[in-house]
Amino acid sequence: AKSKGRNEICFYEDQKNQPEKLVQSRLESEVSKAFDRDEFTLYFQPIIQGDSSLVHYEALIRWHSPSLGTVSPERFIYAAEQTDLIIQIDYWVFDQVCKYLARFSDKSKKVSVNLSLKTVESVFLEEQLMSSITRYQIDPNSIELEITEHSIMRNTAETIAKLERLKRCGFSIVIDDFGVSNASLNHLRLLPVDKIKIDKLFIDNIKSDNKEWKIVESIVLLAKTLGLRVTVEGVETKDQYYLLKNGNCDEFQGYLFSKPVPFDLIEKTETNIKELLQKLI
Ligand code: C2E
Ligand code: MG
Ligand code: MG
Ligand code: MG
Repeated sequence: AKSKGRNEICFYEDQKNQPEKLVQSRLESEVSKAFDRDEFTLYFQPIIQGDSSLVHYEALIRWHSPSLGTVSPERFIYAAEQTDLIIQIDYWVFDQVCKYLARFSDKSKKVSVNLSLKTVESVFLEEQLMSSITRYQIDPNSIELEITEHSIMRNTAETIAKLERLKRCGFSIVIDDFGVSNASLNHLRLLPVDKIKIDKLFIDNIKSDNKEWKIVESIVLLAKTLGLRVTVEGVETKDQYYLLKNGNCDEFQGYLFSKPVPFDLIEKTETNIKELLQKLI
């Protein structure tokens, strides 16, 4: 679904595909207006910590456009990544996450924020993040930065140095969608990573005797050898959960536990998850 969503709005150079290009530019102009019109919201998807009853969250953006309807992030994030709009979006999400974090009474909760590579590479990244951190008086240790790999790293040395500084401030660095991009291993080699998140693609069809599972097992072994934590995304069934839990994965995210929910439903969702976990043990 991911690749399909992306292809729909690809940049085409040739004249034949002019309508596609229009969709892209329309999307771009609508995204830029969406800020002024307050059309973005944040949802939160629980991430179950295998070793404790604590639940963390991933912040995921949602866009309800009056003219386009509900647009999935799979479509508009890719469109925004073709411009600098993605940087503005990611800064906005980060700022909102700080605002929400300040509302948690349990200060040990963490929230993950997705940052596109373009945002990571932006000159003002540290300044921006620290200004939100300071404004809401947030401990950087409660924020994980998920680096999504939809684009190729350009300024490697500078980016690595920057991520190392952010890590020293307390932020955790996560490689998102691990395995789907051919840059995954290179990012693992170069970046100061704390955790990898194995993509749903590998989780979808796992069975204890198939290729997908062997790949996941090998990725987990690789991660553990490097001293990294492993999150799995897209856990939809109990069978997947049992297999992955026995296979040494640390954190679980997926519809089995909960879809992304608005902030106000977090407490209720956590109660449901705790009941479910009791049954699963
Ligand atoms: P992601 O970071 O890999 O986030 C996980 C996506 O998988 C989310 O889709 C989530 O709703 C979905 N998901 C989680 N568990 C399951 C499951 O069990 N089954 C199924 N079918 N899906 C599951 P979502 O929210 O549509 O986001 C799609 C992608 O858009 C994200 O993938 C991320 O790459 C990007 N994105 C979302 N918010 C932001 C943002 O604020 N900034 C940036 N740069 N990218 C974002
Ligand atoms: Mg993510
Ligand atoms: Mg992911
Ligand atoms: Mg993914």
